[in-house]
Amino acid sequence: MAAQIIDGKAFAAKVRGQVADHVAALKSGHGIVPGLAVVLVGEDPASQVYVRNKGLQTVEAGMASFEHKLDAGTPEADILALVAKLNADPAVHGILVQLPLPAHVDAAKVINTIDPAKDVDGFHISNVGLLGTGQKALVPCTPLGSLMMLRDHHGSLAGLEAVVVGRSNIVGKPMAQLLLGDSCTVTIAHSRTADLAAVCRRADILVAAVGRPEMIRGDWVKPGATVIDVGINRVPHPGDPAKTRLVGDCHYESCAAVAGAITPVPGGVGPMTIACLLANTLTACCRAHGVAEPQGLTA
Ligand code: NAP
Repeated sequence: MAAQIIDGKAFAAKVRGQVADHVAALKSGHGIVPGLAVVLVGEDPASQVYVRNKGLQTVEAGMASFEHKLDAGTPEADILALVAKLNADPAVHGILVQLPLPAHVDAAKVINTIDPAKDVDGFHISNVGLLGTGQKALVPCTPLGSLMMLRDHHGSLAGLEAVVVGRSNIVGKPMAQLLLGDSCTVTIAHSRTADLAAVCRRADILVAAVGRPEMIRGDWVKPGATVIDVGINRVPHPGDPAKTRLVGDCHYESCAAVAGAITPVPGGVGPMTIACLLANTLTACCRAHGVAEPQGLTA
């Protein structure tokens, strides 16, 4: 039987709608407008598209959007000064510094200068530590979106065998922490994992966050498993080399033939990432003002 397709586009629209409803209630009930500041350094085309989309969706949700575009050569000290200014600005509840940063900038230093209470990407070491110790944190958006879809599909995740392929700080590690927090039995696999296919075949939940086009094949998937494909890879179009198309880290057709449920690429995890950024900004705003947090929009 063909896998159920987990529609991330529709799910993200639902999350954005929930966020917009809460934002409207915050405005009318408390006179508070959540604000998200995005800092972009340089002209990386993909980053420019992400930042534009983030700004548009922030405004659509009724929040204030503050964009700071800096030249690629901006000194690190100026970026740190801007972050400090945003930390002190009461209209700003969330700060996101778009990665990657130019080579002359110490990305970890910049991220760790963000006030952890405004760190809506969840990359500050304080939030990493809070998540790792099961405390209330701001959680990285892509893993959070993946968790929301898994909870929606399965209800409880307790006792399920989860395999996360990839151990990056922005996806693999926080994803594993979230699955552990929901009482899965978690394995983190990576480029040095022995017999990766056999490890993947153990998974009731298989999360691919590798950055290698279509690496995970159908015969790596346990029949009936749920496959979350985080990968976004641009590859040449088979029919026309002048064109490109997006594929995930999983070979969709063969995995969908075996899995119980699967996220497509595009239209799976991708749209959930910005929706969760908005959700995190709302959560950060509620915490800053001591107002009740919306349910179901964070871990
Ligand atoms: P990353 O920092 O490059 O990490 C990739 C991970 O995959 C590393 O841990 C690496 O292992 C592992 N890996 C590489 N080759 C492998 C192999 N042959 N076998 C097993 N493991 C292997 O990437 P990332 O930032 O986590 O992103 C992963 C993918 O998710 C990319 O396609 C990215 O575009 C996508 N992504 C999507 C979103 C979204 O919004 N949907 C957000 C972020 C990222 P080692 O540690 O051993 O090198």
